[in-house]
Amino acid sequence: MTSNQPSPFPAPCPRTDVLIVGGGLAGLSLAVALGRAGIDVTVAERASLDATVDPGFDGRVTAIAYASWRLLEGIGAWQHMEAHAQPILDIRVTDGAAAVFLNFDHRALGNEPFGYLLENRHIRLGLLRTIQDLGTVHLQYPATVDGMEAHPGGVTARLGGHGALRAALVVAADGRKSPLREAAGIKVLGHDYAETGIVTTIEHEKDHLGIAHERFLPAGPFAVLPIAGRRSSLVWSEKHHVAKAILALDDDAFNAEISKRMEGFLGTVHAVGPRFSYPYAVHVAERFCADRLALVGDAAHGIHPIAGQGLNLGWRDVAALAELLVDTARLGLDIGSPLVLERYDRWRRIDTLTLATVTDSLNALFTNDVAPVRLLRDAGLAVVNRIDPLKRFFMQHARGTVGTLPRLLKGEAL
Ligand SMILES: Cc1cc2nc3c(=O)[nH]c(=O)nc-3n(C[C@H](O)[C@H](O)[C@H](O)COP(=O)(O)OP(=O)(O)OC[C@H]3O[C@@H](n4cnc5c(N)ncnc54)[C@H](O)[C@@H]3O)c2cc1C
Repeated sequence: MTSNQPSPFPAPCPRTDVLIVGGGLAGLSLAVALGRAGIDVTVAERASLDATVDPGFDGRVTAIAYASWRLLEGIGAWQHMEAHAQPILDIRVTDGAAAVFLNFDHRALGNEPFGYLLENRHIRLGLLRTIQDLGTVHLQYPATVDGMEAHPGGVTARLGGHGALRAALVVAADGRKSPLREAAGIKVLGHDYAETGIVTTIEHEKDHLGIAHERFLPAGPFAVLPIAGRRSSLVWSEKHHVAKAILALDDDAFNAEISKRMEGFLGTVHAVGPRFSYPYAVHVAERFCADRLALVGDAAHGIHPIAGQGLNLGWRDVAALAELLVDTARLGLDIGSPLVLERYDRWRRIDTLTLATVTDSLNALFTNDVAPVRLLRDAGLAVVNRIDPLKRFFMQHARGTVGTLPRLLKGEAL
């Protein structure tokens, strides 16, 4: 018998194994990795995911290191994005003020490229297409997590407009300002750089031949990253006020500023598409976990894009956390237990702190125009370029194939 009276009992709260808050590239990648291994995942994203694949939403491209490519391939997402990818065959580092350069040729390590360059919108779309084939991943958007309460055996999260959800673990993949990290009282170490990154796409007369260029100009790094076709993405650092003035230029003057910095090495160039700007900062969370909470991607760390490693670090988090959770679930144990989360924290925090320090120092070294420092760094570039084992060491770092790698980054199954 049914009654029209409202039930005096609260509706049973739906359950998922892992609730991922944030459907950016880190959150979606983790969802695919876990979902493919049979773990039930819900992703709550506060924006509309339909809008986030729009070219105007995120104009960046990502230099996907070779190890991160293995992850995307291993979780079955690469097939949905590879058509747009450009292999990185060489990396050329130039000190703008001098004729010294460092050339990394992928053939020194074998046939595989250093990685791939791919527009973020294609990575996001590829991940969303992969999720469509998985019955284990549920997307909720626009949905913001208003609060969460941990209790023995799980956590209950309130999703604005979508009721409550129980999970064994919540993952904060909610970006550099991470509301979940702040609510958990986790502090960050770091500082702002007085720099803005200008990002735009250019078309050029000559072929880029798959060579990624990092030119260190007095104002900061100027990266020319080859993408599909005769196009490249520029990631160009300037002091905040200079960037603001450059971004306000009309098309002809903007193109003239670009040409001046490129010195004709790709022939005539002009910008196509919108201009984007990103203020630069570095931050690392003091802890990567709390009670039934793990931080991944920019929620855990953000670094200077000088070496194009920010999301690659995020993918290392994804691969490490996925491995720990899947191994724990296979043993029938609690995936949100402090033991698992502390292992994750130990695995990822030191690696992250090391890379954050290296990129911070690199930026300080290459934005310094004092003559003795310039001399020293040019000598350093020349030495690395000549000494093969040293060069190979840096090349392996660029490919992301060093350190204690999780299985997915080694090309092994989860
Ligand atoms: C100019 C530039 C160039 C870069 N180039 C490279 C590169 O070449 N290679 C590389 O590896 N990295 C690069 N990076 C770094 C990289 O872009 C970032 O590390 C990466 O995009 C972070 O992804 P994420 O998913 O962690 O965070 P985000 O992309 O910030 O995603 C967070 C998501 O969480 C959602 N969210 C926030 N709060 C809530 C909430 N309360 N509830 C629900 N959802 C929420 C947001 O809407 C967002 O979708 C670059 C960065 C910059 C600035």
